[in-house]
Amino acid sequence: MANPTLTIDLNAAVSNWQALDALSGTSVETAAVVKANAYGLGVSELSKAMSGAGVKSFFVASCEEGAQLRQAIGDRAWIGVFSGHMEGDLSLISQYNLSPMLNSKEQITRHFKTLPNAAFGVQLDTGMNRLGLEPAEWHDLKSELLAKKPELVMSHLSCADTSDHSMNRQQLQVFKALTDGIETRRSLSATGGILLGSEYHFDLTRPGIGLYGGLPFAGAAPVVHTNIPIIQIRDVEIGETVGYSNTWTAQRPSRVATIACGYADGVTRHISNKAHLFHKQTPCPLLGRVSMDMIAVDVTDLQTEPHSLDLLCAHQSVDQIADIAGTIGYEILTSLGPRYNRHYKL
Ligand SMILES: *Cc1c(COP(=O)(O)O)cnc(C)c1O
Repeated sequence: MANPTLTIDLNAAVSNWQALDALSGTSVETAAVVKANAYGLGVSELSKAMSGAGVKSFFVASCEEGAQLRQAIGDRAWIGVFSGHMEGDLSLISQYNLSPMLNSKEQITRHFKTLPNAAFGVQLDTGMNRLGLEPAEWHDLKSELLAKKPELVMSHLSCADTSDHSMNRQQLQVFKALTDGIETRRSLSATGGILLGSEYHFDLTRPGIGLYGGLPFAGAAPVVHTNIPIIQIRDVEIGETVGYSNTWTAQRPSRVATIACGYADGVTRHISNKAHLFHKQTPCPLLGRVSMDMIAVDVTDLQTEPHSLDLLCAHQSVDQIADIAGTIGYEILTSLGPRYNRHYKL
């Protein structure tokens, strides 16, 4: 078998949720964000594991994702949709009992015209300028909206991964000014906001990346492990080159392993010539360019003949690979792609 293996530790994801939940008071509900197929790891498996551990509320990006989640998880869970009520969402919202987080006047009009008695939440912009009602719009619509009993009023922090960023407090103050005194449940924080402390927690938190083992939750247990089979090993002489565009030249007689994983599997070309793969705990340098389906690795210094190598593992986190690639762990996870043999560990 020449496909790489992606092992997803559901227990680790559940314990990450429990650890994040424990950071807020008992009156604060901790939801789970499972958008983008649970950050690429499998929405059905992850949401069932979370639900089994007591998670009652989930968030997805779109109503299409909400429909898929509902089918996986059954009737009892609450499902919030960040993109709100878009044109064409009507039948999905009613058929799958989704709660759109309405974010514009246009969506509010659409929702009440077509589904006057259906559940909804309201999204406010507190400075990120991505989604949500502007403070002035909220001011105009507030009493009408609150009379219709929204399930949640939420906003989103733009700089919560940087704990001392002044934007955090600024958005907190705007959110409080807009919502203090209302009866509706409130939510401001994703993973980063949970770590900022109890002032940021309100009634419900919405962690995503922390569940899947990524920063800014430094205490997260690793959730993903990728193991990649070696297709062949060859001897390369001094002065010979490896891979597309000859970007690596042997400086010593080398043993070079060709492994079955590439940028089609989310191993970005930006780590060409920079990252390491691991044989047990021994780092082995990645040689030359990452190809679509293959990567070359220097295994000269290994004492035993390897059969496979690890990329994401106990010795190398998604964030370490993200750093090398100049991106964030979120993008590494969501890029992993469909070709892996996926194993879910309980
Ligand atoms: C993605 C997202 C989250 C989860 O964010 P993490 O940083 O992954 O914890 C929460 N709320 C909103 C609005 C989001 O878009």
